[in-house]
Amino acid sequence: MTTPQPAWADRLRYFSEHQDRIVETIRELVEIESPSDNKQAVDRIAALLAPKFEALGGRTKLHRSNAYGDSLQIDFEGPSGPENPQPVLLLGHIDTVYPLGTLTNMPCKVENGRLRGPGVLDMKSGIALMLHAIEALQAWHGALPRPVTVFLVSDEEVGSHSSRKITEALAKQSTGVLVLEPAAGLRGAVKTARKGVGEYTLRVKGVAAHAGLDPGKGHSAILELARQIAVVAKLNNLRQGVSVNPGVIQGGTRTNVIAAEASVGIDVRIKSAKQASGIDRKLRSLKPFDKRCKLEITGAINRLPMERTAGVAALYNQAHAIARQVGWKLEEAAVGGGSDGNFTAGMGIPTLDGMGGVGEGAHAVHEFIVISELPRRALLLAGMIEKV
Ligand SMILES: [Zn+2]
Repeated sequence: MTTPQPAWADRLRYFSEHQDRIVETIRELVEIESPSDNKQAVDRIAALLAPKFEALGGRTKLHRSNAYGDSLQIDFEGPSGPENPQPVLLLGHIDTVYPLGTLTNMPCKVENGRLRGPGVLDMKSGIALMLHAIEALQAWHGALPRPVTVFLVSDEEVGSHSSRKITEALAKQSTGVLVLEPAAGLRGAVKTARKGVGEYTLRVKGVAAHAGLDPGKGHSAILELARQIAVVAKLNNLRQGVSVNPGVIQGGTRTNVIAAEASVGIDVRIKSAKQASGIDRKLRSLKPFDKRCKLEITGAINRLPMERTAGVAALYNQAHAIARQVGWKLEEAAVGGGSDGNFTAGMGIPTLDGMGGVGEGAHAVHEFIVISELPRRALLLAGMIEKV
């Protein structure tokens, strides 16, 4: 017995009728603040989500972490039968960049067709879309047409150190990965390429001295660091897609002391995997200007670029074809930010990113999603779960 598949226009209507419910789910998630560095807070949102997925028949499993929140895995079985297709992996993260208390100044509210709030775009709307797309598929088919694994990472915004291995293991068992990170721009493009990301720290050890009594005896770590930063900035090559940002500096103790220590945190972005070793080598071969200062560099390229492989392009073509069913010309984009999709694409698993909400202002005070885009995002996700 097969239930006839609702036509695409009917599906869109279904999600339009459910739009208010989707917004309510998103609001519920946004109103539980979940900064990456607060384990209790991140655990709280996982605890809210687990029963929601269980209510849809998912089997939940918490991956415990001491340093970060626990990551949440949910498995949905497909139809029982002779053929046992591999699951599709829906990837998301429950942490945000906003500290506890942000809601006071940045409340979750509807304004001019937009839903605002910390993490609403990146990526609590993406998690809500997972719930509602799964629910819809079950309503249309009576059961999910294929197995689905959902993995909600607790520490994506701080490098996914506790979750990366699990993400990679789950991706390996899947036919493809759909990442519910925000779409690119207000036209809602999906992301078929992402830059690789690295983070480094350059520490300078100088020689302290009294700035008044012995000015000639000190070797200033701050002065050395300043000169090094100028060298590091020259590693920028925007035409080739390499960018280097000395983003955080620290150093010194008092104005009357020649600084013994100083450091800079550096963000590195690369467009192709080939660029990783070159930039790494250049950073590691920095030489002190002042021979009495010592340099120490730590860090690495953490996420290799997500390159537009044939597998990625094939997923985009499928998504494009689904969108066309409702007269929507779905675009694709290459972006500078990294995500956990970089890991899975880097393993050669077909990955389509930017499947989540449409809006602007991720990580910023004006973060919002466009509410009227939710139905077709849900339609696209449901269609991709069937097709991938
Ligand atoms: Zn994100």
